[in-house]
Amino acid sequence: MQKKIIIAGPCSVESPEQLELIAQALSPGSVEYLRGGIWKPRTRPGSYEGVGEKGLKWMVDLKTRFGFKLITEVATVAQVEKALSAGIDAVWLGARTTVNPFYVQQIADALKGIDIPVFVKNPINPDLHLWIGALERISKSVNGEVLAIHRGFSSFRKFKYRNQPQWTIPISLMQQFPAMRIICDPSHIAGEREVVHEVAQQAYDLQFDGLMVEIHPNPATAKSDSAQQLTPDAFKSMIDALIIPGLEATSAIASSKIEAMRKRIDDLDEKLIDLLAKRMKLSSSIGEIKSEESISVLQPQRWKWILTRALGLGEKSNVSEEFITALFNVIHEESINRQVEVMKKQNFDSSRR
Ligand code: PEP
Ligand code: MN
Repeated sequence: MQKKIIIAGPCSVESPEQLELIAQALSPGSVEYLRGGIWKPRTRPGSYEGVGEKGLKWMVDLKTRFGFKLITEVATVAQVEKALSAGIDAVWLGARTTVNPFYVQQIADALKGIDIPVFVKNPINPDLHLWIGALERISKSVNGEVLAIHRGFSSFRKFKYRNQPQWTIPISLMQQFPAMRIICDPSHIAGEREVVHEVAQQAYDLQFDGLMVEIHPNPATAKSDSAQQLTPDAFKSMIDALIIPGLEATSAIASSKIEAMRKRIDDLDEKLIDLLAKRMKLSSSIGEIKSEESISVLQPQRWKWILTRALGLGEKSNVSEEFITALFNVIHEESINRQVEVMKKQNFDSSRR
């Protein structure tokens, strides 16, 4: 198994003293890259926007004295040029940059032929194609390795996380690009330091290739993302406690147990699909009557009843509200699509009669 890539450092570089405290607490052997935000893309004006160019010198000083490799975020051509000429070893594109193909292309052009690793965070919206597009633009241009960083996706409704992990999206990226390394940023997913550890463990359980973690010598005073940064000590204990699972079970007994349970799961999946097909068939039949009687496809009261009942059943069977809500939304959407199809077909047939 390849060694995990570990990137750690403050959300924003604030002062030479802040960096010094972090560098003293970490060892270059366990942390491959020291991260630091020099230019901060803030959602709202008036928030801390970073120390700017002078912070690059403070970072490079740590490279000389402690031996850390350095990584920072770049969002414009000028920032790429400044970071490269200062001696930064790798760069990342942030979530607010990946959303815009024009910006990504400009950065790709500025990095043309350069042999440094470039990390591309997912866009803030859950759009796998936009993420892949950014990775492709960068890969076509740079000579160094291109890697992905999963940092979660914004949503209007907050469940537990600041940015929803929607793990199926990075998993789908792994499946499409098996040779590309993808790491996780549990800090921006979690939004709160208490949650960082469990997100990091989940990333390892899902075979991510490493982590980018925000740390600060005194998180309470941090000028950005104060709630999610760990102290260097908390970070080290977390890294030591994380379990790195292998892909296969090592004992024959465990393997055969897993094998037996997988058979049962495959069997249940068949039944699930059969049930879903039956359910959809009934929806289509209702669609025919709705069409004949000119009744609307969407029946808000009925939908509310279905979801409330499903949530109650889920609670009794220990299936989470989040999962039931997501699942029934997909089922309901497919039902609506089916009924709309039936109606279109019947209208078309009757117009030909
Ligand atoms: C950051 O890493 O501090 C940052 C701004 O991240 P993101 O682009 O994921 O919001
Ligand atoms: Mn941050």
